[in-house]
Amino acid sequence: MKIAVIGTGYVGLVTGVSLAEIGHHVRCVDVDVRKIEQLRTGKVTIWEPGLEELMVKNMAKGRLYFTTDYEVALEQAQVIYIAVGTPESEDGSANTQFVEQAAKQIATMIRDDVVVVMKSTVPVGTNDRIYQLLQENLKHNVRVDVASNPEFLREGSAIEDAFRGDRIVVGANNLKAFEMLEEVNKPFGIPIFKTDIRSAEMIKYASNAFLATKISFINEIANICERVGANVDLVAQGMGMDKRIGHPFLKAGIGYGGSCFPKDTKALIQLAGNVAYDFKLLEGVVKVNQERQTILVERLLERFHSIEGKQITVLGLSFKPNTDDMREATSIIITESLIQLGAHVVCYDPVAMDNAKGILNTEITFASNMIEALGNSDAALILTEWDEFKEVDVQVFKQMKSPIVFDGRNCYAPEVMAEMQIEYYSIGRPNIP
Ligand code: NAD
Repeated sequence: MKIAVIGTGYVGLVTGVSLAEIGHHVRCVDVDVRKIEQLRTGKVTIWEPGLEELMVKNMAKGRLYFTTDYEVALEQAQVIYIAVGTPESEDGSANTQFVEQAAKQIATMIRDDVVVVMKSTVPVGTNDRIYQLLQENLKHNVRVDVASNPEFLREGSAIEDAFRGDRIVVGANNLKAFEMLEEVNKPFGIPIFKTDIRSAEMIKYASNAFLATKISFINEIANICERVGANVDLVAQGMGMDKRIGHPFLKAGIGYGGSCFPKDTKALIQLAGNVAYDFKLLEGVVKVNQERQTILVERLLERFHSIEGKQITVLGLSFKPNTDDMREATSIIITESLIQLGAHVVCYDPVAMDNAKGILNTEITFASNMIEALGNSDAALILTEWDEFKEVDVQVFKQMKSPIVFDGRNCYAPEVMAEMQIEYYSIGRPNIP
């Protein structure tokens, strides 16, 4: 099929590449000229395992094309995906202006019948509005259908998720849209859950809110574990063995970040508020997460009283491992507080440093490897559980000025750290003196 994808960010690029890989002819359009120029040279704009190889392969086969020209992208498209950003507005609601701009462009340019598919995460009711907007702006006598097809990929394993996801959710209100999306997605071999448009829109928000709830829940349990002498990792392991609960998202730490959970939880609270509903549980989840993000700084202050003039190493900057995405990363808040408290901050991340340099405080020093980052430091904080950190010989911490580690992701066994005489503080586990 001939498919256009609008927006080549994390979701649009992965969507375009995976649709090309299953045999469709895909044209991707973005307003960001530099991004498109780079993609056209065969270089991906995000760090995502396996993405570049698949992209280059499909470009070479002539099934994947990048452009800034809407006319070229939409020409003869039978299905058009909208995958532009829906960032957080000041009041917490999702800002749908980019989605609306994309819809207006589509309406003025299409000359053939199409199904417009919403991949972006949008508040319930948005697809109905987009349908109206399309109808009002059409320049030719064509049929346009709208379908909601929320995206569930996880950054860091997006390609894996595209080909082995648990389900594809399709919300539509007519047979043609369902049939088209079944045909598009058939080669993935993933079950398709068909529903109405509003329920599909809600599935996305409810799913993210539920996962965020699991994280805040286990973080609250971690706080109690610390006070009663239990070990949250063992508690989570034992809980997760119950199939009704499951292991994923029960890892205690310093809270969730990223481009989705923080904004989608707030957008759902706002959405509920718009219909006079106070979503108390989710408000609690967000509050717990906000408090979580500074927990390591508080512990550092408990240990040192003042960190003025101290050198603090920060290991891990991206909001989670296997991505260079710095959006809403906890490292932004932590490094800023450390600087405010007068510390000299040295950071290291295996892939996110280029992105981090444009975002973090300019007083921060960036080291080129873990050893360099640790040398001469008074304490180290681990913010992202990269394999590189988890698998390192913990001897590496002994070269610090004082080997004191505050681990926000429970990367090491406390017993091992104690044996190595490294002062070690982790999350929700008893400290071993
Ligand atoms: P992104 O910011 O990485 O990418 C958005 C892209 O859209 C940018 O390249 C931007 O230049 C482009 N764009 C904006 N307006 C445009 C227009 N009018 N025409 C063409 N291009 C335009 O965002 P993302 O992370 O890919 O997220 C996209 C949507 O998918 C959001 O609604 C997000 O909530 C949702 N989502 C994201 C993820 C994720 O892990 N990143 C997962 C699931 C769902």
